[in-house]
Amino acid sequence: MKEAPLVTRFAPSPNGRLHLGHAYSAIVAHDLARAAGGEFLLRIEDIDGPRSRNEHADEFRRDLEWLGLEWLEVPAQSTRLAQYRAAADTLRERGLLYPCSLTRREIAALPSRIGEDGVQYPGSARGMSDDCDMSDPNGGAALRLDIDRAMEWVGDIVWSDRVHGNAIADPRMFGDVVLVRKDLPAVYHLAVTLDDARDGVTLVTRGRDLLEATHIHRVLQELLELPVPQWHHHDLILDENGEKLAKSKGSAALAERREAGEDGHLLAEQLRLRAPRSWNLSRAVPFNQA
Ligand code: GLU
Repeated sequence: MKEAPLVTRFAPSPNGRLHLGHAYSAIVAHDLARAAGGEFLLRIEDIDGPRSRNEHADEFRRDLEWLGLEWLEVPAQSTRLAQYRAAADTLRERGLLYPCSLTRREIAALPSRIGEDGVQYPGSARGMSDDCDMSDPNGGAALRLDIDRAMEWVGDIVWSDRVHGNAIADPRMFGDVVLVRKDLPAVYHLAVTLDDARDGVTLVTRGRDLLEATHIHRVLQELLELPVPQWHHHDLILDENGEKLAKSKGSAALAERREAGEDGHLLAEQLRLRAPRSWNLSRAVPFNQA
């Protein structure tokens, strides 16, 4: 059987400016696709309400061009809300989602909380809390995934990361995650899982900080009968204090460097040198020279 072409993507949220970490992420995804004769996609993840701005998305495109990358842009998340709603309905019909309006803080204060950092939703309160109005379609509430029921449904399933190896999907550390917010038909986990399937992404390339989230995505793929890609969670670029770069921390924006006249192609070459040789990024050549 002929192998499916490799399709990777870069999926930034337009709620701030891109920094060096984003550049690295985009280059890794671009070059992996390039080296395999595949396709590199850009998808703007713009459903995070008022914080999403078109100006940022325009700036992202200029940044990527400056780095010497070429891409195919697929529709932004805001055009896909109906698809998210339909998927949430499917999960709900299967009894896998329930509405609940407790806040994270209220959940954390409940006695059966497990673990310090992951907020766990106690089974005893599922759909039974006074805060949840089960008679209302959404109860003015968020919809949470009943993780125990979901795991019963899917059984043991494996996912495969090219850098970190194989793992059995176990998203219990996240508890009953919210999949639908009361003001939004999908949160990141649901939207990204549906989008990657719809866009035909075969290698989900992103930072190590999203490795754990993949447990949830893999379970959602199984529940929604979506194709299963491979993953490539790359290392993160850290600042001088060893901390993750972040738009919110004011890490230097690519746009500033670009506007200051720095050579983007050279920067891209320097970033390529950071990647392990086994990823073969150095063999990759820009599209226009292929
Ligand atoms: N939109 C997410 C972000 O900007 C990335 C999602 C992903 O790559 O899965 O952090």
